[in-house]
Amino acid sequence: MAKVAFIGLGQMGAPMARNLLRHGHWLQVYDLSPQAVASLVADGAEAAASPADAARGVEVVITMLPDGQRVRQVLLGAQGVAETLTPGALVVEMSTIHPLESDALAQAMAERGVSFMDAPVGRTSEHAVAGTLLILAGGTPEQVRRAAPLLRCMGDTLVETGGPGCGIRMKIVNNYMSIALNALSAEAAVLCEALGLPLANALEVMGQTSAGRGHFTTSWPDKVLKGDLSPAFMIDLAHKDLGLALDIGGQLRVPLPLGAAARELYSQARAQGRGRQDWSALLEQARAAAGRHYHGA
Ligand code: NAD
Repeated sequence: MAKVAFIGLGQMGAPMARNLLRHGHWLQVYDLSPQAVASLVADGAEAAASPADAARGVEVVITMLPDGQRVRQVLLGAQGVAETLTPGALVVEMSTIHPLESDALAQAMAERGVSFMDAPVGRTSEHAVAGTLLILAGGTPEQVRRAAPLLRCMGDTLVETGGPGCGIRMKIVNNYMSIALNALSAEAAVLCEALGLPLANALEVMGQTSAGRGHFTTSWPDKVLKGDLSPAFMIDLAHKDLGLALDIGGQLRVPLPLGAAARELYSQARAQGRGRQDWSALLEQARAAAGRHYHGA
């Protein structure tokens, strides 16, 4: 059983704190909302009057707050965690904040003798309630080892993402990809509707292809990720097929801005002599555009 301060009892934080209580941990909780605190006290937590009060005498502080400014205020502001936290304690920052802000907080806490790790979460508040969050741990092996028994009360999947700061970086990239894909999916769904295709049938088809399953797990593993650019499906044909969709979309007055931008990338790849390469070579094209060249894991 660990002595934990939990700060930020919102849609995510409240059920996460509740799951720690359920597993027998001892919690001091703080939130700007007295109702949020009262609800956790009813479940067995101790109320704290400030972040400093919550952090007094605990081994671990968990923060689950809206943004980096709020996390900084809670950790380093007046009546903040840093005023009372025992040197050697561990701060586990689980909010989604700017990675550079997370790095700056890690540095500021280290100067005070406090260990800081990032462990943002994936999935939704329903998973927070069920204790089945995806937890992206960014810390040293020692920090992750210390935090793991607590993290496993809140999530059923704990991934060590590569060291301090990597959890929040992974979270940002994951969200970038899924949020952008949401917009592309909406574009494609409206194209289906304009073409008279039942959406349910489209879900069945796309659920089995790289369109719905994503390229990380379908078209890339056996091709570009193995350095094999021989065409399973070549860039020239992908460019042609994108053109077909953009043309029919144009005729039906369906705006397809993401598809149009993607076609330009395929055009660039063709202009660079990649037309007969596998379409997964778009990764190499993007690396070249960023002036980056990858030399293996
Ligand atoms: P929320 O707005 O429901 O909760 C935030 C809580 O922080 C509130 O209870 C608020 O009163 C409290 N708070 C704000 N400032 C405070 C301060 N200075 N001191 C103490 N308490 C303070 O937000 P949420 O949905 O719980 O999200 C928390 C974090 O988790 C965010 O960074 C969010 O991006 C991330 N996240 C959310 C989800 C989701 O599905 N909601 C999923 C993954 C990650």
